[in-house]
Amino acid sequence: MKEMEEKEHAEKGIDSLSKPKSAFVCPICKTLLTDTNLVDAKSVVQDNLYYVGGVFIADSHVYLYCNFEHRYTEEGNTLENPHPLIAKVKTIFDKKGECICFDILEVHPGK
Ligand SMILES: [Zn+2]
Repeated sequence: MKEMEEKEHAEKGIDSLSKPKSAFVCPICKTLLTDTNLVDAKSVVQDNLYYVGGVFIADSHVYLYCNFEHRYTEEGNTLENPHPLIAKVKTIFDKKGECICFDILEVHPGK
């Protein structure tokens, strides 16, 4: 039971962190990257994309470089030529491994 409450608390914590504060302009096509087209705490942390072989990050400030695609226009339509991007994200993990900060700092062309 206690574990469930903690999990719920963790999810709420992530939700409040998942929306980027400002929009980013795509460095390739120069149009706006919307929230739905950027990496977020849910996909990277909650869905465990940052895990590597069962190891997790705790008690650290970490810069994550997240590969994603510019796939959608501001209106939510699919781009004719989606292109790869990489976001530099500042994250902070507490002693239990919970992500307490997820700030996208920069977006660069990807590979
Ligand atoms: Zn673009």
